[in-house]
Amino acid sequence: MSAPVLTAVAWPYANGPRHIGHVSGFGVPSDVFSRYMRMSGHQVLMVSGTDEHGTPISVQADKEGLSTRELADKYNRVIAEDLQGLGLSYDLFTRTTTGNHYRVVQDLFSALWKNGYVTPKTQMGAISPSTGRTLPDRYIEGTCPICGYDGARGDQCDNCGNQLDPADLKNPRSRINGETPKFVETEHLFLDLPAFAETLGSWLSTRTEWRPNVLKFSQNLLGDMRPRAITRDLDWGVPVPLDGWRDAPMKRFYVWFDAVIGYLSASVEWARRSGDPDAWKQFWTDPSAQGYYFMGKDNIVFHSLIWPSLLLGQNGAGDRGGEPGRFGTLNLPTEVVSSEYLTMSGSKFSTSRGTVIYVRDFLKQFGPDTLRYFISVAGPENQDTDFTWDEFVRRSNFELANEWGNLVNRSVSMAHKNVGAIPRPTAPTAADEQLKAQVRAAFDTVGANLRRSRFKAAATEAMRVVGAANKYLSDEEPWKRKDDPERRDTILHTALQVVSDANTLLTPFLPHSAQKVHEALGGTGVWAAQPEIREVDDLDVPDRGYPVLTGDYAGEAAKWESVDIEVGRPLAKPSPLFAKLDAELGENGPEWAPIVT
Ligand SMILES: [Zn+2]
Repeated sequence: MSAPVLTAVAWPYANGPRHIGHVSGFGVPSDVFSRYMRMSGHQVLMVSGTDEHGTPISVQADKEGLSTRELADKYNRVIAEDLQGLGLSYDLFTRTTTGNHYRVVQDLFSALWKNGYVTPKTQMGAISPSTGRTLPDRYIEGTCPICGYDGARGDQCDNCGNQLDPADLKNPRSRINGETPKFVETEHLFLDLPAFAETLGSWLSTRTEWRPNVLKFSQNLLGDMRPRAITRDLDWGVPVPLDGWRDAPMKRFYVWFDAVIGYLSASVEWARRSGDPDAWKQFWTDPSAQGYYFMGKDNIVFHSLIWPSLLLGQNGAGDRGGEPGRFGTLNLPTEVVSSEYLTMSGSKFSTSRGTVIYVRDFLKQFGPDTLRYFISVAGPENQDTDFTWDEFVRRSNFELANEWGNLVNRSVSMAHKNVGAIPRPTAPTAADEQLKAQVRAAFDTVGANLRRSRFKAAATEAMRVVGAANKYLSDEEPWKRKDDPERRDTILHTALQVVSDANTLLTPFLPHSAQKVHEALGGTGVWAAQPEIREVDDLDVPDRGYPVLTGDYAGEAAKWESVDIEVGRPLAKPSPLFAKLDAELGENGPEWAPIVT
């Protein structure tokens, strides 16, 4: 039996729709991985949801004239629709404002508290002198005391990656109105991160399979771990289950603390909805289970150091010892898979600068698979990568339409026209056998790359097979074999067998068109299952409902293996798999696209 696999996908923040930079970091890679793992026989639990607490939600709600809850409701739905449109096969995509999430966060906190990993401390908090309101860390900017970078945020320096305290910034200023914040005393709870540094250090030294940039970045931060605040002066968040804190209107868990626990709470919610409330345990407490976490690089520290610290504290496994909490002994991540940034003209996508391409605009014009393919084969897997329309159009036209679409189309068309069904092969030649062997071997090479989240290499390897099949058809010229139908049928049979296998290899990347190819080869039923949005009731809070993204993936037919095609199965005339894009789109993109200077 293959090990159960948890795919933990970074939680999108519910303050706006998703752009293609977001989904190239956490979305497409996690789905390609999960689809492959399901196809190769693993039981997969892929979870995430919208991250809905914290100040930016309050700020955005003020801007849109909505309450915080109304704003969270609005973007939770928008984001779930964006991700569904891309075909991201979540077992559960939920949200952080559910009764279930509140309880899991509070229970995990209680274990940390009981084991002595949380201590109250009075610190200096920033307020706005003009309004008297709390000024959250990320709304303060100034010069980093460590590297001197001038755009450092109060909570973190994006240049050197260090966690910061806003009171340490040089020349602090409010990003809301530019004024100098005033620092006043306030009591908060702190997670004792240094108590985990040693255990984390030895654990990280065993993570030799991680992408080197992720491992190095994490190890570099180890020596700098300081106690980190897990509460904030804010009225929008999960309440702290301690006497004196529980009913305090302006004391809530810090948004990062509750959001990162979402992986566990979403797994628990999925289990409760499945009818077996303990079903989450096989993905979290079974020592053979594997956990893969997908995110953009700005989130590495939360997944490689902070979340593992929370898990160790809950387990009672840091320097202060302790007993496992309500959840038992939870597994640490198997791997933290981080992508770099998809950029536009060298900068991150920015809503405020107007350099942004929204997922929904993109899907409306181009459909999901071209974007999935582009991100997989040309995305920011190992380095920041510029999105250009020119490359998008080129890859869509040459690789998807000309190479793959054309191979499917001409193989099926010729077999349909000449035989009307999958032809019977006779006396295969060395060339036939060699091509079929090459495709069969690709299951191992492409699979090994997918297992290690090397998407570029996996997609390139799969497309190499497609190229070899096109060359085979050009060499063998079945269209010139009118007087030798046996040879013609053998060539077409070989080509169709390779189309079928290549379709399996490409299914994790192109699940929507894979379904069409399956049908073009005369297949029926669900080849690659797609997620759907279901309206559900909150399991714990009466009269509250919300949409979740989920699906029935167990019944899909796609398996990671070569399956012999069935001679005599009727074939219909195929329709083109990918529309050829107008080359002019390669210059500036569609009309709705941002102008890049
Ligand atoms: Zn810095």
